[in-house]
Amino acid sequence: MFSNQLDLDDFMHGLVKRNPNEPDFHQAVQEVAESVIPFINRHPKYVKERILERMTEPDRIILFRVCWEDDEGHIRVNRGCRVQFNNAIGPYKGGLRFSPTLTLDTLKFLGFEQTFKNSLTTLPLGAAKGGADFNPKGKSDREVMRFCQSFMTELHKHIGAHTDIPAGDIGVGSREISYMFGQYKRLENQFQGVLTGKGLEFGGSLIRKEATGYGTVFFTEELLKKHNQELAGKRCVVSGSGNVALYAAQKIMQQGGYVVALSDSSGSIHVPEGLSREQMDWLIDLKENRRGRINEFAEHFHCQFNPETSVWQYPCQAAFACATQNELQLEDAKTLIKNGCMVVAEGANMPATLEASHCLREAGVLFAPAKAANAGGVAVSGLEMSQNSMRLSWSIEELEDRLHTIMRKIHEQCVEHGREGDYIDYVKGANIAGFKKVANAMLAYGVV
Ligand code: GLU
Repeated sequence: MFSNQLDLDDFMHGLVKRNPNEPDFHQAVQEVAESVIPFINRHPKYVKERILERMTEPDRIILFRVCWEDDEGHIRVNRGCRVQFNNAIGPYKGGLRFSPTLTLDTLKFLGFEQTFKNSLTTLPLGAAKGGADFNPKGKSDREVMRFCQSFMTELHKHIGAHTDIPAGDIGVGSREISYMFGQYKRLENQFQGVLTGKGLEFGGSLIRKEATGYGTVFFTEELLKKHNQELAGKRCVVSGSGNVALYAAQKIMQQGGYVVALSDSSGSIHVPEGLSREQMDWLIDLKENRRGRINEFAEHFHCQFNPETSVWQYPCQAAFACATQNELQLEDAKTLIKNGCMVVAEGANMPATLEASHCLREAGVLFAPAKAANAGGVAVSGLEMSQNSMRLSWSIEELEDRLHTIMRKIHEQCVEHGREGDYIDYVKGANIAGFKKVANAMLAYGVV
């Protein structure tokens, strides 16, 4: 009944049957399966031990009710979740997302991706993802606090510095992490590094906030260097204006590139000559301290604003997808190619659809996949955990240097496993390199 070869279509058929109505999870697995199945088939031990089947089944999923009281005294009910995906190479690690549209499908795709991403960081990090269908937008600070405290009242039973270390993601920033950390400490009477992305006063790490965006740019520079190109002088579009997008944009400018577009859910801005440093600082302040919308930037600086949120329409040589999943579709990929874009980097998780990613790569566009390109965030979370364990803090220089080295090592792993003659398939490289480490640990543990 068991063959010593895996077939992609059979494997995907089984996965879809076991996980119906979860298109994002199917997409994330399909992308990995396309590249690792040929590798697995050359190494029958992985087939025999059914490693890919085991890796696509989360260790456990914890679902819970989150009740809280709003400012008007009404009782609100949300759903919280933590998908503990894989702890073969370290404690579960991954962000929490608060979004009204969050589903288990999204969390399974994110947790699965995290397995490979965390493995690539070279640090001992397992994989998880969690969150709630709660919308922090438009809520008062006190409402967010009450929600976070209620959420942590259940979650604290399932996490710990050696068990599972959540962090932020979309809708979860320093305010939410602080409320959750405060509640964990109160419930457990323990001051431990149980969350990352903490405030600097209570165990947080310098450059954690900037790390995902900076790391994406460092990775892209390595990839360009490998192809005798550089970022300096290139016109770049960046989608989004959360942590990832803002700090990717800031680093692009520091490295001599021009940021010509950014976006949020209200629309996009277009500045053909590139944002100035003053404009970038203003935007960061708007987004981080005033919780404003990007159209306010356009009004303040009298630049072009388009209620159309997509930035892919603007001519560029480099595109950084830093907003959310499936934001770059086949038609967008064709527009980028037509306009002469030569590199696309995924700062968000799975921002390109499978069709878009295939189309870009077939057209010879350099493509930096999310698992590799956005691993800098969780990598600095790993460094925050190290600092917490040692009870000390590293300097900005030390941390930026470590982040840079990690991104370089991730690039090397992609090249090693993605080389096909003269061509480097970074998607394949990232997937195989990430897979190997986790798979070998799972093999060593036997049947568990
Ligand atoms: N949410 C981020 C990610 O997608 C960071 C996770 C973490 O720092 O644990 O990788």
